[in-house]
Amino acid sequence: MLCAAQASASNRAPVALDMRIVGDDAVTRIVIEFDKPVDVSHQLLDRPWRLVLDFNKIGYGFDEKSVNKSGLVSGMRYGDMGGNHSRLIFRTSRPFSVAALRSREDQQTGRHNLVIDLEVAGEDEFARALDRSITTSAVVNTAQKQDRIGAVHTDDKPFTIVIDPGHGGIDNGAIGVRGTQEKDVTLAFSRTLRDRLSRFKGAQVFMTRDSDVFVALADRTGFARQHQADLFISIHADSLRQHGVRGATIYTISEKASDQVAASVAANENLADSVAGVELPSEDTAVSDILVDLARRETLGFSVQFARLAISDMKGFARLIKNPHRYAGFRVLKAPDVPSVLIELGYLSNKDDEALLNQTEWQNGLADRLANAISKFASLSSRDIETNVAADR
Ligand SMILES: [Zn+2]
Repeated sequence: MLCAAQASASNRAPVALDMRIVGDDAVTRIVIEFDKPVDVSHQLLDRPWRLVLDFNKIGYGFDEKSVNKSGLVSGMRYGDMGGNHSRLIFRTSRPFSVAALRSREDQQTGRHNLVIDLEVAGEDEFARALDRSITTSAVVNTAQKQDRIGAVHTDDKPFTIVIDPGHGGIDNGAIGVRGTQEKDVTLAFSRTLRDRLSRFKGAQVFMTRDSDVFVALADRTGFARQHQADLFISIHADSLRQHGVRGATIYTISEKASDQVAASVAANENLADSVAGVELPSEDTAVSDILVDLARRETLGFSVQFARLAISDMKGFARLIKNPHRYAGFRVLKAPDVPSVLIELGYLSNKDDEALLNQTEWQNGLADRLANAISKFASLSSRDIETNVAADR
């Protein structure tokens, strides 16, 4: 459903300057004031009930704290989705229907008000509306299905590392006791690690994101496969229910989780797409033949080998969790042909970890240790990378 498809003369993206939510449990009106006309499409999502508004890129000029989540609206989330696309998501306390969605110019203020009326609805009605709702699959850049199983590594390809800063854009990840956002910590640390690695001759480094933008899990994995990565490192700093638990942890993939903590971290991580309102088919369509299985087994061997190297290098610098190598069914670690690990730098649910995660010095130190482990890992493979980190410092 499109409305106000008015092209604007200037190139600057429209900015949402103000937002109001008024109403009760039966009828709720959301008003978003833009400085220019916007294109918007909407869809519904369930579990939990959500209204998703998709825009071409917009700016966020309103003060979130001043938006009173009232009536049916119980929560809100917004951010950039990548590819010139922005999203606002409203969570509701009950099933609803969209009674009206229109945009009109306020003659007095000159602002373009997007008005959305929600009405409480039965579960059945919501389910029917959900079925009719547009799935914005175009939003998700489907990962390139380049199968490189059986491909021969050429010697002139540099050792390739893909760093994956967890979360981003509309998906904040965990929030620390003092308000640190996981998506910021993961990006800052990933940049530090990239800079360390760029001092290695014969290595090339890519990041799945280098700004505050949402990237779907399958696209992160797809990106690593496209670049024929020799190592994929997903960086996180999640929160746990047990606030006393702290310390760095390295996860590799496994169908069966090593323990309760690993299982809940993976379950949380695997929700990242759904948090952003991007529902993907649950299973990837990887060819299940013997070559893939073999590649998978070999890849897992490499992943575990790297996890051990990283732990031995991080020890003595960073505090590690008890049993620092754990495993569970992380979707982001599913590339059959790219050795992949997910590193929890620490846990934002622990205030001491949160303080460390924000320290540049600590980030630098940990990045050094990891870079060291990566160079050892590379030297175990056919292509050596020359490390000159020590000389540079
Ligand atoms: Zn995370």
